[in-house]
Amino acid sequence: MNIAIKTLGCKANRYESDVLLKRLSGAHEVFEMNEGVSTFQRRAQADFDIAVVNTCTVTHVADRKSRQAIRSLKSANPSCKVVVFGCGPNVAREDYEKIVEVDEVFGNVDGVIEFIEKLGARDDNNGECGIDGGNNDSLRTRAVVKIQDGCNNYCAYCIIPRARGPEVSFDKDKILEAVRRKEEAGFREIVLTGIIISNWERDGMDFADLIEFLLENTSSVRFRISSIEPQNFSDKFVRLFGWDRVCPHVHMSLQSGSDSVLERMRRKYDVALYLDVCKRLRDTVSDIGLTTDVIVGFPGETKEEFMATCDFVRDIGFLKMHVFPYSRRKNTVAYHMEDQVAENVKKERAEKLRKISNKLGVAFMRGLWGNEYDVIVETCRNGVCTGVTPNYIPVQFSCSDEDGGEGKSGDLVGKVFKVQMEKLKKDGLVEAIIC
Ligand code: SF4
Repeated sequence: MNIAIKTLGCKANRYESDVLLKRLSGAHEVFEMNEGVSTFQRRAQADFDIAVVNTCTVTHVADRKSRQAIRSLKSANPSCKVVVFGCGPNVAREDYEKIVEVDEVFGNVDGVIEFIEKLGARDDNNGECGIDGGNNDSLRTRAVVKIQDGCNNYCAYCIIPRARGPEVSFDKDKILEAVRRKEEAGFREIVLTGIIISNWERDGMDFADLIEFLLENTSSVRFRISSIEPQNFSDKFVRLFGWDRVCPHVHMSLQSGSDSVLERMRRKYDVALYLDVCKRLRDTVSDIGLTTDVIVGFPGETKEEFMATCDFVRDIGFLKMHVFPYSRRKNTVAYHMEDQVAENVKKERAEKLRKISNKLGVAFMRGLWGNEYDVIVETCRNGVCTGVTPNYIPVQFSCSDEDGGEGKSGDLVGKVFKVQMEKLKKDGLVEAIIC
């Protein structure tokens, strides 16, 4: 069978789609629909039998995009079966069952695999579904390894604990096994992912112990930590960023720069703690890339509280902020809060904060001119390579035959080059030169 997969949402979803790819490839022609419109259209003409949509429900926009994906896949090929799974059905299964284009709804990836196997699939990959997304990782240079699932925090705005269930930390030896398989397969970077990975805890070890364990038992891969909460930064964890195989990039959710809003959100830290973590990180690695998520227009957010967020993010100097207007989700505490902020106010605040984010990003990158970084090549076309630095700056640099490629279309993907940061291009990439 031809099976198309469309993935929405976070790295945990990305990992689960990689599991699907691994389990079903070989027995079937499996391809992803995340590669751009022209590829999508070409694939659509290939007449797929099953379209799998891995949904996201973190905001109304994510819900809408999930539904749009379902409809566009069905309209591209009306005779296909549309199979839906992920956070959307876990939170509101009946809403997805009502969509006329949907044929089957599952809570998790195992249900999807079982369904496809029953349709006549032959699964001879002997894959392990728990941790390792397989070697079909969407990025050939960077593999995802899931170390944890679920969340017990129940932040006031968030539906994820209902979608994902309670926290589970995976076994360290199985995680190591998955990492080693990636390393042996030639991946240069491993992204450790989950829902709240900093809460990983098992057999008397915490998250910092786990990373140290992985570093001590591997030799070449570097590790990137996908997203982390500010309340879990032990001194040991901060020191790990001094290792050259731990990418100096931290994505740490802020959500608001106002203590009163953080309290209403039921977050477990205040701005003083957040600031302290950033200082400790910068004391360890001065050019560490700090990225974050911020929600604007949380119920009751006053102009002063919003301004406090603007001031705070300027103090930190983030490389990048993902700004989300607050999205009201049923079955969350914040859904019932009074003083919901008007949509136009949320939109204005989001725009203002995104402009601040762009300026901060440019200022941060300008401070790096002349610095040298090891970059793993992710694309190489017409003698131009792209990749990201360990501190998460997207860069572009020219290569030639002597660099080991074939000049025009040399396949340098996966190779590592030391480059020097030069200048910012209009498209947001930094131009660099090979040292
Ligand atoms: S920590 Fe809060 S925001 Fe993050 S997944 Fe858990 S409940 Fe949601």
